[in-house]
Amino acid sequence: MKILVAIAVVIMTVGCQSSDKHNMRHSATKIDANSKIKQSHKPHSKEYEIGQNKNEKALNDNDMTDQNKYPVVKSEKQWREELGEERYRILRQKGTEYPGTGKYNLHFSKGTYACGGCNAPLFASDNKFESNCGWPSFDEAIEGSIEYVKDTSLGMIRTEVLCAKCGGHLGHVFEDGPKETTGQRYCINSLAIDFIDEE
Ligand SMILES: [Zn+2]
Repeated sequence: MKILVAIAVVIMTVGCQSSDKHNMRHSATKIDANSKIKQSHKPHSKEYEIGQNKNEKALNDNDMTDQNKYPVVKSEKQWREELGEERYRILRQKGTEYPGTGKYNLHFSKGTYACGGCNAPLFASDNKFESNCGWPSFDEAIEGSIEYVKDTSLGMIRTEVLCAKCGGHLGHVFEDGPKETTGQRYCINSLAIDFIDEE
C-alpha cells in the first residue's frame, strides 16, 4: 500500500501530454458521457497507493493551522460528519482519488461545478475538457474562487488548488492544458466537487 500515491501524482503531472487532439475543448464537448474513451495512460494501482501514503505524510508534516483564514470554518469533527470519510480524505486531508473512477471524469453536461465542502461555484462546464488523465480537467476556474498554494511534497514543485471559501483541497493545476485556450490544466478530484445542472 505504501507504494501507490506518487504515481497518481506523476500521472497527473506528465501523463496527459500525448493527447493533444483530445485536449481541444471543442472536441471534448462532443464526447458523449457514455462513450468509451481510450485511456492511454491507465495508471497502475500500485503507483497510486505509493503516492497516496506520501500525500498523507505530507499532510501530517504540514498541518492545516491556518484554516481560520477562510470564510467557511468548521471543526474537523464537523467536516468529517458532513463530508463522510471519502470526501473528507480528499477535501480536508489532501487526498487523491483513484484515477479513472471519479463520477465527473467523463461528465460533460452543461452547468457549474461547485465545491463539495461549501457549494462555492468553482468551474464552468464550458471550461471542462477531456485530458485522458483520469481526473476531471478544466482550463480555467471561476475568477476569485481558487486559492493557489505551492506544493513541494513528493519531491516535486506543483501548484495545489484549494477552494478560496473553505480551504478544501481540490487538486493541482499544471501548465500542460490546451494550448489554444489557457494552456492550463486544473486536475480536480471528482469527490471534491458537485455538479449543478444549468436547468
Ligand atoms: Zn469550498
